[in-house]
Amino acid sequence: MIDFNKETEFKDFNHDGLKAHAEQCNQCELSDERTNVVFNSGNPNANLMLIGEGPGQQEDEEGIPFIGRSGQLLTKILESVDIHRDDIYIANTVKCRPPNNRTPRPKEMDTCQNYLIRQIQLVQPKIICLLGAAALKAVLGPTESISKIRGQWVTTQVNYMDDDLYIMPMFHPSYLLRHASKEKGAPKWLTWNDMKEVKAALSFYDIMSKQ
Ligand code: SF4
Repeated sequence: MIDFNKETEFKDFNHDGLKAHAEQCNQCELSDERTNVVFNSGNPNANLMLIGEGPGQQEDEEGIPFIGRSGQLLTKILESVDIHRDDIYIANTVKCRPPNNRTPRPKEMDTCQNYLIRQIQLVQPKIICLLGAAALKAVLGPTESISKIRGQWVTTQVNYMDDDLYIMPMFHPSYLLRHASKEKGAPKWLTWNDMKEVKAALSFYDIMSKQ
């Protein structure tokens, strides 16, 4: 698992400063072919953070994560449980598009990791959803496959809050596009149920923060 409490070279950066730094980054070869650095979307004070794999073509062109077909499906799934994209924070394990949408290489995810760690420290989410195998590997390290571990809460201690951080691995929406069945037990059905569980946990924190 990544060290959520790590003191990175970005420890003194605020969110805008970190984003500006990433926009000039050429620490790995993914900078060679990118159009835009895709840093985040949504609310930098959100209780829920989603972490995906990396930008695709449309995301690279527009500089916004999860806006292609996968992103549209993700938005639908979120809205089905009354979670709105503007209220949550969305980021990726790597901020620059891997050529031909290949999976980011471990070295690339490692090189980009300190941006992600600092993003988490700045946003201070109570809940993180890991979308797909690459995000699972980047954050939790070697573990069960995504199909075995999805839907199970993983908890860890972080410096920024007293309660544990709750982490939910889920299928990536691009996987759901390739497995379109909504039948009980199918990946889409499972993901919808996972998201309902995330919504229930999120509602708890939303209520607590209003007390
Ligand atoms: S993927 Fe991350 S480490 Fe690589 S160039 Fe982009 S911002 Fe820098």
